[in-house]
Amino acid sequence: MDSLPVSQKVKVTAIAGDGIGAEVMRATQQVLAAAGAQVEWEDAMAGAEAFRKGIVTGTPQETLDSIESCGVALKGPLETPVGFGEKSANVSLRKIFEMYGNIRPVRELPGIRTPFSGRGIDFTVVRENVEDLYAGIEHMQTPGVSQAVKLISEVGCERIAELACALALAEGRGKVTVATKANILKQTEGMLKTVGERVVKRHPALTHEHMIVDNCAHQMVIRPEQFDVCVMTNMNGDILSDLAAGLVGGLGVAPSANLGDTVAMFEAVHGSAPQIAGKALANPTALLLSAVMMLRHIGHFATAAKVEHALYVTLEEGRDLTGDIAAPGDGVSTWAYVERVIANLGRTSARVPAREYRPIAMRPWPRGTWSRAVAKRELVGVDVFIESTAEPQALGDSLVAAVAGSRFSLKLVSSRGAQVWPVAQPHTFVVDHFRARFMFIAPPAAEGSAEIADLIARVGREHRWMHVEKLQRFDGADGFTKDQGEG
Ligand code: NAD
Repeated sequence: MDSLPVSQKVKVTAIAGDGIGAEVMRATQQVLAAAGAQVEWEDAMAGAEAFRKGIVTGTPQETLDSIESCGVALKGPLETPVGFGEKSANVSLRKIFEMYGNIRPVRELPGIRTPFSGRGIDFTVVRENVEDLYAGIEHMQTPGVSQAVKLISEVGCERIAELACALALAEGRGKVTVATKANILKQTEGMLKTVGERVVKRHPALTHEHMIVDNCAHQMVIRPEQFDVCVMTNMNGDILSDLAAGLVGGLGVAPSANLGDTVAMFEAVHGSAPQIAGKALANPTALLLSAVMMLRHIGHFATAAKVEHALYVTLEEGRDLTGDIAAPGDGVSTWAYVERVIANLGRTSARVPAREYRPIAMRPWPRGTWSRAVAKRELVGVDVFIESTAEPQALGDSLVAAVAGSRFSLKLVSSRGAQVWPVAQPHTFVVDHFRARFMFIAPPAAEGSAEIADLIARVGREHRWMHVEKLQRFDGADGFTKDQGEG
């Protein structure tokens, strides 16, 4: 049963987007209308045209206003034309509305033949959508060495893990796999591992499992049917959700949802396919499945099931499919496919196991500056990043001389994370980017700003430095990792 009275129409922002966007959007709207979906569309523009008008986010204010007031959007693919816009409109939209959860269902579709057909693949990837390397904080550290900052917050981990659990419970699933690279990135990926375990264990109906993310990629290919819900940081989730889509028919049939506290946006995973735009060749399945997720989000469960089953029956029977999924030479137009799906509304697929969906109980996260309180904070040292073409031994010796008589001692010098001073491995390859780790000889008073300024001045007299990082301990635990070879 739908949780809202059928007479109550829900306003949804419809962004057709670029390329095949207009066709797949119209196709989706036609199927939803025929299914009796109680949706009132508010058309809005974004993408290439907006960029060409000089709108740097690729999304005009009226579109942002529409999304804000509707709270739900269905979106086609958006292009960032070459030479316009620094950032993609898709990434900007996720950030503007803090849509922190990216949901990618991975379900075997009837009639879509893949090497995995018949295995009963049915899981969901929950990807953190706004943090990690996608914070987009990048710097050239030297003319030949670049750096991106991988930012992971505890509250970011908490909310994505909570969302993964809420989704698992809503879909009647039992296991949440937290997949991380915590074995290497102990502070960042390690945070999702720790927080994920804590969060999943709060839900007695769910089983927690941790898996190293590279093994998770391997397991998804070897035994994909073992997964239920997988939760990951942004970059890992980006890669593995595409891998997972490949298991069940590829990006062309993959739907997705971007969820935040106040706004939810549903979109196909594929792009604007400019080569086939305007030719009625596009397959609207991915956007239709995204619309099914949208219908569930707004509580219209019965309509969602009706559309989903019509789609399944159509794929299963294999008649009137678009060229990308039809047998060679058998492809029909987007509109013939839509007609077939509409004709199948009301039929139920016997091949797809039924799943009981309930609303996702998302917890709203209060605004404000999130911060974790600690009882004890110690400043124990400073990493200074230096650009130098000196030979590592000579660099280390000169830094020792530079800080003689200061509050610091030089502990080590490394290049790309491998120690090169006081001891170097003969095979270590060195570039002009060094990290010099200075430890306080005695704890500083207060913030240590004066001592650090003195240290920088001493180092800067002889070397070009570009970056400084405090080494802190929080409640007795190191807030930094050790170098390869560091004792
Ligand atoms: P694409 O997904 O547009 O196309 C890849 C291939 O899949 C092409 O052969 C295309 O014809 C085919 N294809 C994709 N969707 C299809 C569909 N529904 N039906 C039939 N065939 C389909 O990927 P791309 O070529 O790398 O990207 C094109 C543009 O789309 C780029 O500007 C890119 O930035 C943008 N893009 C946008 C999004 C988004 O808005 N979420 C996602 C990916 C790419």
